[in-house]
Formats: sequence, structure tokens, C-alpha cells
Amino acid sequence: MITKFIKRILRRDPMVKHTQANNTGAPKRIPKKAHRIDPHLLSKNAVKVTDTLQQAGFEAFIVGGAVRDLALGIGPKDFDVATNATPDQVQRLFRKARLIGRRFQIVHVTFFGKGHPEIIEVSTFRALLDNAGDHVAESGRILRDNVWGSQGEDAARRDFTINAMYYDPSSETVLDYHGGMADMQKKTLRMIGDPAKRYREDPVRMLRAIRFAAKTGFTLDAATRAPIAKLSNLLQDVPSARLFDEILKLLMSGYSWAAIQGLKDAGLHHGLLPLLDHILDSGEDSKGANDFVKLALANTDQRIQSGKSVSAGFLFATLLWPDLLKNWKANIAKGISNIPALHDAMDDTIATQSSGMTIQRRFESDMREIWSMQPRFEKRVGRYPYRLIESPRFRAGYDFMLLRCATGEQDPTIGQWWTDFIAADPAGQEALMTSAKTELGSSASSPAKRRRRRKPKSTSSPEPEAG
Ligand code: ATP
Ligand code: MG
Repeated sequence: MITKFIKRILRRDPMVKHTQANNTGAPKRIPKKAHRIDPHLLSKNAVKVTDTLQQAGFEAFIVGGAVRDLALGIGPKDFDVATNATPDQVQRLFRKARLIGRRFQIVHVTFFGKGHPEIIEVSTFRALLDNAGDHVAESGRILRDNVWGSQGEDAARRDFTINAMYYDPSSETVLDYHGGMADMQKKTLRMIGDPAKRYREDPVRMLRAIRFAAKTGFTLDAATRAPIAKLSNLLQDVPSARLFDEILKLLMSGYSWAAIQGLKDAGLHHGLLPLLDHILDSGEDSKGANDFVKLALANTDQRIQSGKSVSAGFLFATLLWPDLLKNWKANIAKGISNIPALHDAMDDTIATQSSGMTIQRRFESDMREIWSMQPRFEKRVGRYPYRLIESPRFRAGYDFMLLRCATGEQDPTIGQWWTDFIAADPAGQEALMTSAKTELGSSASSPAKRRRRRKPKSTSSPEPEAG
């Protein structure tokens, strides 16, 4: 009774405002035996959302990357739902629902359970916009985007065919408007519509193309690939915060090394991060730097693929380390003593990055902390090791130091010493320090001078270790 009443109220809203004739064609309906999506990989909460919307009389589907991943047999990391209900209508159906954004108004429905809360992103079918409208900038870039449309229009707005499939958990059917399933079978990444036009609308799609190709191992369709080289300069118009987010996604995709190679092959890395230019353009002379970055990225990929967390601060600290090392050494050569030379080098390295895509402040303090910890790993006597181990970011600093050991830049016996020290009981720790003392003679017991140099700033970040 009450549900009926609610439904009636909800129905009073104008449902969708269609802008233009839907010439997007009928979808292909793919039954379970053809798509073979395993329902066990579905998020229960996402299904709750589609069920609730459908019971209220709306259409609702799991959409986008989640369907792509499900069809690949991978458990999606997040679930998006698309519906013909407006954001207001969606919001009224769920207790924990929040309207987000203006340009892309969506609803976040949050579920609290064991572990992390899960957010299901619900978006209303959006209309296709034509170039004549005021929604499109001169360059073709889409500026405003809140006009509701049909499912077919919504599908045509999406980027790649494999990202434009709709899965209905209740009937276990996939609706496929653009041959996404056939492209999955051909392992092809294909842009919907005219690729050049789609890149002009949103240049970030070029980066997405590279990221998805690296992640899925699919090949970019020739027509999808062809315009990228010519249009790469359009990325300069993209706001730097958005570019940063996209680069971060690329680096955290679990396939970062492949993706970076993909950027290079497509001629896309210039101006994204000065350090990418540096790494990808340099030849034999910076082989050491390349090795370090390559190892760091391989390590990151491995962690992400095995479901472990990686902190962005850690990642950027590794990517910038070769540059930092160079600056540090140059400062020492100028006669600046070790630790101040390191701190000056950190300032220089970070300042250089600001000329391209700014590395956001929130990661900067993590980076500084990880870097400034590095010389402290050499002090393995007295109270130093105990103090270091208590730093809030110790684990990240330690992981970072192990990477340096792996490329031979740091003495691997020091890495092993710390691994043993972490695992040892108090007596074992004392024994390890004695062994370090004899190993080093008296040189390691440098005085309290350095103690004061540790900036209070670097210990002020209370964030838990994620790396
Ligand atoms: P993942 O979340 O694994 O990185 P995804 O495909 O889910 O991949 P999202 O950024 O979460 O990527 O976007 C969800 C969906 O929204 C995409 O699958 C695609 O259909 C659509 N989409 C996202 N960004 C764009 C874009 N720039 N242009 C067109 N469609 C897009
Ligand atoms: Mg997604």
C-alpha cells in the first residue's frame, strides 16, 4: 500500500526529457549461455540497487566497466548502475543516497557491511548532444551534460564498445548496443562512433584507450588508434586535476608499465608528467633510473594485482626518486652536507614537477616523508632504529628502501638487517645492533646534530600506512 503510494508520488516527476530522436538502434540481447557472466562475481549491493529500482517500476542495469570485467571473468572493483529514474527519484528510494556533482549529476548509494562501506554509483540515462548545442565548446569538448535520454542514447555516449553493455541481474541478460561482446571475443578495443570526434569531445578518452588496452591486453582497433597521435596536444586543454586523476588511475591499474609503454607508443606522454618524458625519452645514460622506475612499477602492479593497497604518495616517491637522487648528488657536489642537500633536492624535484601536471599536495607530504627516511636506514645503532620504526610512515619508507636494495643502489645487507630487525624480539634487536656496530666501527654513532634536523612537519601526518 505504502509502496504503491510512494510509486505514485515518484511517478509525478517528469521522467526523462528526450532531446532528439533516438537513432541509436535496438540492442542485441545476449542470454546467459552466451555471455557466461558468473552471478557470484556480482556485488550483492549492486543487485539490491537494480532490484529496488526495478520494483519501483524503473529500468535499471549494471553498466560500464563492471560488465566488461564480469564478461572477462574478473570481479569488478566497483559497480555502476544506469537507470531511467532521475537522480531525485533514485535518491528517494534509498536511505543512504547522496546527490553528487553538477555536470554529471549522479547518486551515490552507500551500503555499510563488514569491512569498507560500498558505494554504488547510480546514473540516469543521458542524452546524446549534438554539436550545435551550447553544451559543446569550440574544440568539440563537452561542457555540460545533464540532459536525460534513452538507454540507446546513453550507450552511444559511452567511450568503448566493451564499456557500453548493460547487464540486468534479474534476467541475467546483457543488452549490447555497439557490438561490445563481439569485440570482447576479438579482444579489440573500439571507440563508439567517429573516434576523432569522440577524442575532441573529451581528450581524456585517449588516455583511457591506452589504460584499457594495457589492462585487458586487447588491441586498439586501427581506426580508434589512428587519430591519437595527431590529437595528443588536446590533452593540454584538460584541467590538470582531471589529468592527474587519470594518470593516477593509469599508474594504479595494475598494468602501469604496459600502460606507460602504450603512452609512449601512442606519442601521448609528453607534457603529462615531466618525469615520464624523462624516463621514456632518455637513452642508455639513464638506464639506472629506468631500472629503478621499472622495478617500482612492476612492484606496484604486482601488489595491485594481488589485491594489496598502494599509496599514491609511495608511487610518486618512486617515480621521482631518480630525479631526486640526481639533485641530491649535485647538491653534495656543491658542498652542501648530506641531509640539507637531500631536503633542498626534494624542493627542487617537486618544483620541477609543478611545470607539468601538478602532483597534488596531499601526496607531497607522504613523498617527503618517505624520502627523508632513506638516510635514516643507515643508522643502525643506539635509539635510531627504534625511533625510525615508530614513524607513522615507516612501512612505506622500508618498502621504498627495499626497492633501492633490489636495484643495488642501497646495500642489500642493510635491507636484510632491517627485515631481521622488524621480525626480532628485543634481545634479537640488541644483537643485531651490536653486529651493525662492529660492522661499521665507530662511524655510525654520529651525534645528536641530526636529530634536530628532522622537521616536525614530516611527522605531522597521522595517516595510517597504506603502502
Ligand atoms: P574502471 O572503473 O575499471 O577504471 P570503467 O570503465 O568502469 O573502468 P569509469 O571511469 O568507472 O571506467 O566509468 C564508467 C563508465 O562510464 C565507462 O565504462 C564508460 O562507459 C563511461 N565513461 C567513463 N568515462 C567516460 C568518458 N570520458 N567518455 C565516455 N564514456 C565514459
Ligand atoms: Mg568503474
